[in-house]
Amino acid sequence: MPSAKHIPMRQCVACRERRPKRELLRIVLTEAGPVLDPTGRKPGRGAYVCPDHPECWAEKKLRRFAGTKAQELSQALHIILGSVTSQASQVGNPST
Ligand SMILES: [Zn+2]
Repeated sequence: MPSAKHIPMRQCVACRERRPKRELLRIVLTEAGPVLDPTGRKPGRGAYVCPDHPECWAEKKLRRFAGTKAQELSQALHIILGSVTSQASQVGNPST
């Protein structure tokens, strides 16, 4: 495996897994609350979470980073990221 290319690595605040930066989603804590930063350019205190691991969106796991705003952040992640993968929840759902 050639590793000539430098791939920036970041650590998920929830599961502490190290992954290539582009596989993770950046979150920034602002005064107005946590915001998701897909471009990675917002100023402020940022952290990364796995966008493909719902267990990494849990309030308990985000508290280390977001403190009292963890619940708000958890909800935002579930709304934004959860909608992407919500197709699975329609399987086997009787519509009566
Ligand atoms: Zn993670």
